[in-house]
This record gives sequence, C-alpha cells and structure tokens, in this order.
Amino acid sequence: MQKPLLALVALSLAVPASLTAAPPPSTVGDHAERVAAEDGLAWDFLEGLTTEVGPRMAGTEAEARGRAWSMQWLRTNGFVNVVEEPYDMRTWVRGTETAVVLAPFQQPMHITALGGTASTGENGIEAEVVFFPTYAVLEAAAPDSLKGKIAFISHDMRPTQDGSGYGFAGPARWTGASLAASKGAIATVIRSIGTESHRTPHTGGTTFAEGVKPTPAGALSNPDADNLERIFARANGQPVTMRLVLTPRDLGMTKSGNVTGEIVGRDPSLPPVLLACHLDSWDLGTGAVDDGAGCAIIAAAAKQAAAFGQPLRTIRVLFAGAEEVGLFGSSAYADAHRNEPFMVGLESDFGADRIWRIDSNFTESDADLYKQLAAAVARLGVAPSKQVAHGGADLNVVRAQKGALVDLQQDGTRYFDLHHTPDDTLDKVDPVQLRQNVAVWAATVGVLANHSNPVELGQ
Ligand code: ZN
Ligand code: ZN
Repeated sequence: MQKPLLALVALSLAVPASLTAAPPPSTVGDHAERVAAEDGLAWDFLEGLTTEVGPRMAGTEAEARGRAWSMQWLRTNGFVNVVEEPYDMRTWVRGTETAVVLAPFQQPMHITALGGTASTGENGIEAEVVFFPTYAVLEAAAPDSLKGKIAFISHDMRPTQDGSGYGFAGPARWTGASLAASKGAIATVIRSIGTESHRTPHTGGTTFAEGVKPTPAGALSNPDADNLERIFARANGQPVTMRLVLTPRDLGMTKSGNVTGEIVGRDPSLPPVLLACHLDSWDLGTGAVDDGAGCAIIAAAAKQAAAFGQPLRTIRVLFAGAEEVGLFGSSAYADAHRNEPFMVGLESDFGADRIWRIDSNFTESDADLYKQLAAAVARLGVAPSKQVAHGGADLNVVRAQKGALVDLQQDGTRYFDLHHTPDDTLDKVDPVQLRQNVAVWAATVGVLANHSNPVELGQ
C-alpha cells in the first residue's frame, strides 16, 4: 500500500519533499540540526504520557492505559497501521514495604521490594542479618550457612558514561536473592543498584534459579545501606537483627501488549526499519527516563526522518510491553514476527541524555553505509566507533534473525541516579539533550530508511 504524505504536511518543511529520490546527505544534516534546535514532538509525547498516564507497571490496567494513550498519540501524529498485539503474562504488584533494624541500634530503613519476590506475610519476619560486602563474598559462603537468616548484600557502584558499572554491580540484584536463598536465607536485602545517595531505593527485577523457592527481597536506599554497614562495624560482635514487612502479590495471568505504528515507505515491499523502546515502567516514579523518553525519542525521530519526504522504506515503531519484569513483550514480538524480515533494528532505553557514539554490527562489512551514518550524525557531536552493536532488550526479533543493528550510545553518567526510583520523573529530562537525541535518531533513520540495498553483514 502506497501511503501519501498527508500526515507529514503538518511539519514545517524548508526543503520540498520528493517522492522519487532519497534526500541528499546535506539535506539530512541541515534538517537534523533544525530538529536539534526545535523538535517539540518528543517532549509532547513524554509530558503527555507521564502526566496523563504516569507509572505503567507491566500487566496492570495502568500499562493498558499507556498503550491506549500512545496509540492515540501515534494516530494523531500521522502514524498508520497503529495496532496493539496482546499477550498474557504473570503479573506481580508491590504491597507494603518496611524494614526496621531492631538490634543493636533500633531504627527504620527505606526499602523497596524487588520484582518477582515473595511476601513476608502481613506480620513480617524478624531475623539476624548476615553482611556480605560483595556478591563474591556471598558466593564463597558455605552451603546452609544462611539458614534462618536475612542476607545483606552490599557492593560498590560508580557512575560511568557507558553504564558499565551496572554490569559490575547488577548481579547483587539480578541473582543475589536466589544465591542467598540457595544457602538457606529466608530473605535478602541489597544495597540499591544506583549511583546517587538519596533515600530513594532502586527497584528492579530479580530471578530465582530453577529449584530455588522465591523469598522476600528488597533494596535499601544507598544512605540506609551505608548506615547498615556502620551498624555492623559498631555492633562489636552483637547480632544485627531486622524486621522486614514486604507484601507483594502475584495477580496471576493478566493481559499485556505491544504497540506498533508505521510511517509507510514508498516501497512497502522492502523490509522496514524497526525502532524500539518499552512502554511499561516500574511503579515508583512516572517512567519518564525509563523508558518514556525512549518511546518519545523514536516516535519523534520517525516523524522527523520522514520530514524530508516519504522515506523509501517503512519505518515501524515498536513500543514493547513488560520489559522491566522479564522481556515478555520483546519475546512475544519475536515469536509473532520471526519470519518477517527487518532491514535493521535500533532501540532507545538509556534515558534522554545526549548521544555520543554510534555503533553498528556492519561497521566493516558494509563500510559505505556505516560511513554515511557516521557522517550524518557527526555534526551533532556523535563519534564513530569500532564497537559492535548488540541491540537492546526489545530487539529480540532482530537478533533472532541475526539481522543488522545500530546502537546510538547515550551518556549514562546520570542514568543510575534515577533508574527505577521514585525520582524517575519528567523534571529530570533535559529538553536540550532530548532534542539532540531526536536529531541523531532522525538523521540515522533518515539514512537507513532511504537506503535501497540490504545491509551487508559479515559472516
Ligand atoms: Zn528500560
Ligand atoms: Zn528499567
């Protein structure tokens, strides 16, 4: 189906649109610079979503409202083939959450439950706490050595531009509770996986290994974890005990879904360019940085990329559901679309701070295309690289096809100050950096969607 430019005329075009040829590279660069200065679409999406919907916990009615809201936004802004693809998932929701150190120095702590964990029951549990300064020390603990105890896993996380500190500190959250439970712990508290020192605990998912029964588990805010470490240092060998009340619930199977929308290309028979983000969020903040911003960036960029004329290829946006709690949306999309070829996949899920580097998985095998991309974004302050792109969590469908991937690397220095906390709110998004993201994406997608050949991938 050939789609006319009806929806695109609303954009102010300084350059006349051509339906027959790809825009010259200089036009792409000029337009991208204007987008960096002027785009209001991404902010409109993000302000609207965080104000009219707010937190969008996977599998809940709030996530469903997020889907309805974003489908309306896409249609209003000229996207076509806007559809919802539902799937069923097991849904976990938060309950009461309190932690109190009882001895040797009594005081309350700020805690939040980790996704997928069990309840302590309304009356809570009281037990001795065992301190593990790192995940490695917990790994070395003897089997059954934590019987009847609460494990406290601390660690050290520092901000890095590329977010690599997450890979270093993350295991405490991802599998720490399971490891402690396998050694007999009845519950686990971890130091938040975060780089700020506010009393805002960072939630996130945790996974229990096969055969390990889920236990209650929560993250303490960084200042509370500091305090608990000092309590251990001053306890002089007396036991440290804690009362935990964490009452999350399993709602059983509920509906979630993915949302897609398209800007149809001049030749819809060509494999489309796939832009992904996730629409669900944790429940503590309003899901502005993670990942409302990503959806705002890709939606605005798809429109801006088409502003210099209807692209050759279709641009499809995928707002995946239920990423935070286990990539349910990404898996469902990969299952449903495995046999539909995509030209290339890109994802935005690392906040809204500026893009500083462009990676691909065809930098050498299709050097001409990579050079075009690098040139298109150089004017926006983005460096080329030889790093291999792996795509984000919501690009399972492209990875399953061993397809082409581009990663637009964002500055992650601030990201883990906010990640999964009550502080993930709209005011933390810098509109200037958000526009730079849209401009870089628009320039990149503009080149890709007007590239007629398939991407040449190495063996
Ligand atoms: Zn995310
Ligand atoms: Zn997240």
